Amino acid sequence: MSRSEQHDLIIVGAGPAGMCAAMYAGRGMLDAVVLERGVPGGELLNTEWIDDYPGFEHVLGRELAAKMAAHAAKFGADIRQEHVEGITRREDGLFEIATSNGVTYEAPAVILTAGGTPTKLEVPGELEYAGRGVSYCAVCDGAFFKGEILAVIGGGDAAVEEADYLTRYASRVYVVHRRNEFRASKLLQERLFANPKIEVIWNKKVVEFKGGPAGLQSVEMEDTVTGSRHSLPAAGAFVFIGFRPNTGLVKEHFHHDAAGYMITDDRMMTSIPGLFAAGDVRAQLTRQITTAVGDATTAAIAVEKYLAERRTGVLAKARVGV
Ligand code: NAP
Repeated sequence: MSRSEQHDLIIVGAGPAGMCAAMYAGRGMLDAVVLERGVPGGELLNTEWIDDYPGFEHVLGRELAAKMAAHAAKFGADIRQEHVEGITRREDGLFEIATSNGVTYEAPAVILTAGGTPTKLEVPGELEYAGRGVSYCAVCDGAFFKGEILAVIGGGDAAVEEADYLTRYASRVYVVHRRNEFRASKLLQERLFANPKIEVIWNKKVVEFKGGPAGLQSVEMEDTVTGSRHSLPAAGAFVFIGFRPNTGLVKEHFHHDAAGYMITDDRMMTSIPGLFAAGDVRAQLTRQITTAVGDATTAAIAVEKYLAERRTGVLAKARVGV
């Protein structure tokens, strides 16, 4: 049966940004609800060890996720398992959020912290072998490949970090990158180059995944300089070529960059008044846990001010040009 509820604030997504926003909303005595389709934690659950969150020199991703959820709950966070289907803003300035359970949530402010989904290579065989050799999550699937040869595709922080992680299971990991240098941080690169189980294949793009009934067998590549073709036998291929922000839930036009990330003002408000964005959905230089919680802190405090301004009828102008 369908029903509707009203709150001050709805937070969509319970990764680090969503949980931090919920914590600050609780501290600000807002009636907030967090809607999360899975288990709270977001990308933390896809990362084994985290070494770059201040105060935690070396912490398991799932442990940090549990600590953040408990911390948010301490301040009254109401995290519900709900699959959000769409976010629309009505004429009266209230947002309506429809969920697959038939509940419509209404609020004058929304913080979108829905993260992103892994970018696909969009080459033949990728869909066919997804879950049968092709993966987007080393922590989830790495253990299936004990003693096997693996390929990791990409050259950013995720590819370089996860290649290193996968060597605990694989006999050999080949990192396939389309250029002749990584964009990953120097520290992660140093760790990768020092790992004797890893070999880098430069200047190659993946053109196809091939296999048989038992799953993936090889990664087909083309040299980006000479155009020559190469076949790399591998039982698994882990694709880490970036994220696509989960912004499709917003049904109205909003300002975004070329890759679809939401552009916000310095209060994290998007070009839609009352809609705030934090973490991996937001256009910014880098996407770290630290930046996600920083965004969320600003957004939650800005929501308090926005709601006060709404009540008094004195709305600050959105600072994003439309
Ligand atoms: P990213 O930094 O955007 O890197 C994507 C990589 O994939 C790039 O090397 C890119 O190549 C390559 N690529 C993109 N499209 C491709 C295609 N169609 N075919 C082949 N290669 C392709 O993405 P990310 O590594 O997922 O990281 C995303 C954000 O999360 C970054 O801000 C990163 O710093 C952050 N992050 C941080 C950590 C950490 O600090 N421990 C861990 C994971 C992620 P080019 O270089 O040639 O463009």
